Amino acid sequence: MSKIYLVDVTNRDGVQTAKLGLSKLEKTMINLFLDQMGIFQSEFGFPTTRHEANYLNANLELVEMGVIDSLRLEGWIRAIVADVELAFARIPKIKHLNLSISTSDQMINGKFQGRKNRQDIINDMTAAVDAAWAKGAESVGVNAEDASRTELDYLIEFGLAAKEHGATRIRYCDTLGYDNPFSIYDTTHAMAKEIGLPIELHCHGDLGMAVANSIAGAKGVIDGGQDAYINTTVNGIGERAGNADLVATILAITKSKGFGEKYTLGGEVDLSMAYKISKFASYAFGVPIPINQPGVGANAFAHESGIHADGVLKDPENYELYGFEELGRRQWEIVETGREICAGEYSGVSGFTYVMSKVAVGKTFESREEANRILELARYANVLSHKPLTEYELRFIADYPDIAKQLLTNVPLADED
Ligand SMILES: [Zn+2]
Repeated sequence: MSKIYLVDVTNRDGVQTAKLGLSKLEKTMINLFLDQMGIFQSEFGFPTTRHEANYLNANLELVEMGVIDSLRLEGWIRAIVADVELAFARIPKIKHLNLSISTSDQMINGKFQGRKNRQDIINDMTAAVDAAWAKGAESVGVNAEDASRTELDYLIEFGLAAKEHGATRIRYCDTLGYDNPFSIYDTTHAMAKEIGLPIELHCHGDLGMAVANSIAGAKGVIDGGQDAYINTTVNGIGERAGNADLVATILAITKSKGFGEKYTLGGEVDLSMAYKISKFASYAFGVPIPINQPGVGANAFAHESGIHADGVLKDPENYELYGFEELGRRQWEIVETGREICAGEYSGVSGFTYVMSKVAVGKTFESREEANRILELARYANVLSHKPLTEYELRFIADYPDIAKQLLTNVPLADED
């Protein structure tokens, strides 16, 4: 039976969102948490963007070191040969790519303004796929941007051309959040059957249906005999109204009525990481988790009205579909409310050593030299993130100082092109 795999795109769609961003260290933490959670793949950034290079190369090094264990790191580029070549020039060890190109007449006419027709789109895409294989890629996904506004016959023609050139998967992008669960089911079912490749669902929330469309699309793909890959972001952060929320998508697959009996996740996903990754992303993006966010919102397990409170006290299952413990939430959280020493860009070694020795970080330095070296890295990390570093980031810097240095190094206008 075909399965559902999760491809998290927080580090691509999430960070390209207007008014929001993550530091390279924060992006790295997201990859580490996704790995610990058992997520299949992270679209970890933009290989052709100069300021991403050190971060992308450093994260591929974390894979080589075994620090990132099973998570597949994949980069997003445009489906043109020049982008493929630049990607491999900047990120020589990149193994997995998704190549993106617009397929709808609206975008072909509205964006390319007569410079390209449908056949040109297919030619660009297949040439880019060929180039990626020639450069040594291990998997090549092809993204049909604005697929939901693309005529089905052309979408299938596009998918078959990609398949002919060895593409690993086709990403069906509901770029504008235009689909509904019924329309996406029909389309992805037909695509899976006619193209005969695994299909990725990339859904947006402009009409409030990103998660519903994702699982309906996945059902369509699996009913069509192929594996389905759902694109998610942590806390649903993404362009405009956002993407399918990672935690809500896992809950919808595993907890909704009857769905999980036939349509199941591939691999082991550890839901108990949910609260941690959501809280971290909220802090890093500077975007509060909505009070009514599924699973991780402040009200997700709160009960006040008489009948509900009485009912849940007698048996939680009266008013809760799943337990808060499953998401890694605790009944109580300890918050420091008295004296607090923070690590920042102007910290000195004494305060920093104290912060690092606290239980949450748990790092004791061997020597003053080591403390000074890690402190210098923490200062630079703070310069880039503009807010106190979390215990996870502090610990990471202390454990992998060489990688941290790479992540923190960005020199504008320094070299080629
Ligand atoms: Zn998107």
